[in-house]
Amino acid sequence: MAISICVFCGSRYGADSRFRAAAARLGELAGRARVGLIYGGGHVGLMGAVADAAIAEGGKVTGLIPSRLLEREVGHRAITELIVTKDMFERKQQMIDRADAFVILPGGLGTLDELLEVVTLRQLGYHAKPIVLVNLGGYWDPLAALVDRVIEQKFADPSARTLYRMVDTIEEVLPALGVGQPPAAPLRVARAE
Ligand code: AMP
Repeated sequence: MAISICVFCGSRYGADSRFRAAAARLGELAGRARVGLIYGGGHVGLMGAVADAAIAEGGKVTGLIPSRLLEREVGHRAITELIVTKDMFERKQQMIDRADAFVILPGGLGTLDELLEVVTLRQLGYHAKPIVLVNLGGYWDPLAALVDRVIEQKFADPSARTLYRMVDTIEEVLPALGVGQPPAAPLRVARAE
């Protein structure tokens, strides 16, 4: 496996049918690129769509789900590994620890919580892992506007905008993480004469 990405997204499909197709496309691309998928372990909504597509492509999929949610989110039984955690906190912690990068698709309040968790942990220096927000159909525009407001009101430095990267399409996600691109040419430093 190249790297493992943790995908945060809705446990519902949402109103826009393009979201489901986009979630499946991300799973497909990750599976093909042999990028490991770490996610919330459910079989429902966009979460299930990403996982199903990654599995279909022979990808490695690790789901983490608290015992209490195992039934509500219909724990996915066909993934590579389903880890049952004690609670939501342990789930989120393990997802964060296991991932090399975070990818956020449209989602509900749980997704917002997860997104803000990884952004604020990065702000505080707990990790330096890339965070990619996929702004499908402008879904995250209000969040970007809120961050602007926070900065304008001096509750954060303008550098807060650099804690995450926003892309418009699924196809941009893996390249944004350096997957599927030729390795950078070795840096050659000329010798001093
Ligand atoms: P949602 O975006 O609300 O559909 O939820 C997406 C994921 O976030 C699901 O795996 C939920 O279990 C999880 N989630 C829901 N509520 C919370 C919460 N308060 N804190 C952390 N995760 C949550």
